[in-house]
Amino acid sequence: MSACLFCNIVDRTIQSTIVYEDEHALAFQDIHPQAPVHLLVIPKRHVPSVQNLETGDAVILGHLVQACVKLAKQKGISESGYRIVTNSGPHAGQTVLHLHFHLLGGRSMTWPPG
Ligand code: AMP
Ligand code: ZN
Repeated sequence: MSACLFCNIVDRTIQSTIVYEDEHALAFQDIHPQAPVHLLVIPKRHVPSVQNLETGDAVILGHLVQACVKLAKQKGISESGYRIVTNSGPHAGQTVLHLHFHLLGGRSMTWPPG
């Protein structure tokens, strides 16, 4: 078993509600949803945060954002709007050190975030 929670979700050691999967990406429902739609979109490869991406990772990064956009369409929140968020480090409140994009929608949101 990996020390990383999301790597364990990728290899199915830990159960989650997976909504999308391809060669490089996985999306599943957040266990503590903060909006009617709250998905996490992650690379299958372990990368701790955006901080650790390298020049060659531009393609995977684009791929993850495209997956978010595709899922937003599928979930019917494209027109009403949504937020794609990634937290990096303690001040941002990152709790899981495996890169993930939160896809949040289905309700009105405020700005700036807390
Ligand atoms: P962050 O605080 O940006 O690192 O986000 C981590 C997210 O992972 C939080 O929104 C948690 O609710 C979510 N989370 C933690 N454990 C699980 C799990 N086992 N399955 C799905 N989501 C999880
Ligand atoms: Zn990991």
